[in-house]
Amino acid sequence: AKLRGRNRSHHFSPDMADALYRKMTLRHHLTLALEAEAFELYYQPIVDMTTQQLKGFEALIRWHDEELGQVSPAEFIPLAEETGQIVPLGKWILKTACKQLSVWREKFGKGFIMSVNLSRAQLQSSLAPTIESLLLRYNIPPSQLALELTESTMLQEYDDAKQCLDDLASLGLELYLDDFGTGYSSLSQLQDLPISTVKLDQSFVQGEHKGSQAIIEATRAICEKLDLRVVAEGVETQEQLDYLKSCRFDYCQGYFLGRPMPAHEHEERNFTLQHT
Ligand code: C2E
Ligand code: CA
Ligand code: CA
Ligand code: CA
Repeated sequence: AKLRGRNRSHHFSPDMADALYRKMTLRHHLTLALEAEAFELYYQPIVDMTTQQLKGFEALIRWHDEELGQVSPAEFIPLAEETGQIVPLGKWILKTACKQLSVWREKFGKGFIMSVNLSRAQLQSSLAPTIESLLLRYNIPPSQLALELTESTMLQEYDDAKQCLDDLASLGLELYLDDFGTGYSSLSQLQDLPISTVKLDQSFVQGEHKGSQAIIEATRAICEKLDLRVVAEGVETQEQLDYLKSCRFDYCQGYFLGRPMPAHEHEERNFTLQHT
């Protein structure tokens, strides 16, 4: 690599050094943020295409650091996974989402689902008992809590992960397979794992791939045959929504239907969403 100047000449690649520095800084701030609970959950609506009503919310973590500003979960979640910090952070996420769910059950009725993203490192034998006690503590029926897992999380030590998912499903929770179509799972996992719902990755809805429409339609067909519900992610336009409706998708989610927002902002809105 070309060296940028005398001061940096000891670096072989300035970009690599910057990336490493950023990572070390984030790691340090993440430790402090965990102690200070400097995180917040936002909630994004998922809409039932049959009734045009709210089906539920996906909880998405936000981190505002005083020095670093807003840090995207796409950047800090993989880092927390590397360091193992995702385990305590994941517990905080589950607790906070359950607490919010119990408040909203009182306020908005009892028919909606809260879905929470899980990382692979959280799939430990202690997870099901932890969640069971949260459900008891906040008086939540298991059918109102869903857990989202990505396909790639399932690659390593598949049997252990499957055991953990079976335990969670035995509690009566819903399991969603996230980012479908972008990972490395085989279609047989759709049958082998106790999944109720597939979330088709937003890149297909946004037409980023060759044959996106063919993949959308094939996914819908497979899910129908296997008796799985299917959510389309990343819906940003009326046109996309109309198309997904014509494909008879069960649920849609995306900026067009609602952005992730703090809980109080949802409370100020009317919960029956009217679109199309
Ligand atoms: P994900 O689980 O696939 O979440 C969907 C992401 O797409 C979110 O980004 C959401 O804000 C964004 N999104 C929603 N609708 C649209 C749309 O119409 N257009 C576009 N362009 N984007 C849309 P976010 O919140 O930045 O999260 C990124 C990823 O970070 C998530 O992807 C998930 O993998 C991870 N993540 C976020 N929160 C958590 C969490 O609480 N726990 C864990 N383990 N991972 C999380
Ligand atoms: Ca997700
Ligand atoms: Ca996703
Ligand atoms: Ca994703």
